Amino acid sequence: MNVCVLTLFPELFGPFWDHGIIRRAVQGLKINPAVINIRDHAEGRHRVTDDRPYGGGCGMVMKPEPLAAALAEARKRVPSATTLLLSPQGKRFDQSLAQSLAVEEGLIFVCGRYEGVDERFVDQHIDAEISIGDFVLTGGELGAMVVIDAVARLIPGVLGNEDSAGSDTFSDGLVEHAHFTRPPTFGDAPVPGVLLSGNHQEIDRWRRETALIRTVLKRPDLLAQRDFSPQERAILEKWRRDIDRLIG
Ligand code: SAM
Repeated sequence: MNVCVLTLFPELFGPFWDHGIIRRAVQGLKINPAVINIRDHAEGRHRVTDDRPYGGGCGMVMKPEPLAAALAEARKRVPSATTLLLSPQGKRFDQSLAQSLAVEEGLIFVCGRYEGVDERFVDQHIDAEISIGDFVLTGGELGAMVVIDAVARLIPGVLGNEDSAGSDTFSDGLVEHAHFTRPPTFGDAPVPGVLLSGNHQEIDRWRRETALIRTVLKRPDLLAQRDFSPQERAILEKWRRDIDRLIG
């Protein structure tokens, strides 16, 4: 996937491309990254990229011309890309949006700064606005990294089998089961015995059961629309009986 970021702070992205699974994705040619400095596309000796807002008020607004010129440069490199603006006003980013972006041929990310970008640029050039949550950041760069990171790991071949996204939290509407590693006892807490049993059917059953129960405890909102399977109903009913027994 071609990924191109438009930003006033291109140096923030160097370490991002260069670590962990993102680095592996870049080296394996699963992601072809590019960063364009918006300032390089601003006119004049001072290469000004922002100006005061019409109508008055505090802060500065990113000018449309440097953004449009930077985007034209990005589109030359990645003609069929979808153009996304990071914005707290955008659609809330989640795993299903990550999944739909992961099948795109290319993505261009526009990172805002200051009070945001001139609305005419948004109207004329942006396919979708994406928010990474209901809070306001100082710039879109961290948001772009969040989206790129979540999307990259869903591109086939980026994760090895050993760290597949298949059982991740949200992948089937549940949070993931708990994880344990050595030592077998930590403090006075042993690893659940079933995980040491070598019985893979039992381990799978335990993982499905704990994923469901952890979702009830941690994220009951995820279950509101769920069509429970007969097996899941049986797990929850057994759990209810156990609780009833406990509280008498
Ligand atoms: N004045 C804008 C508003 O109230 O909607 C906020 C501008 S914010 C200080 C500067 C830039 O940070 C935005 O243009 C956007 O690119 C980025 N940003 C801030 N919060 C964000 C969020 N929750 N998700 C994605 N990007 C965000």
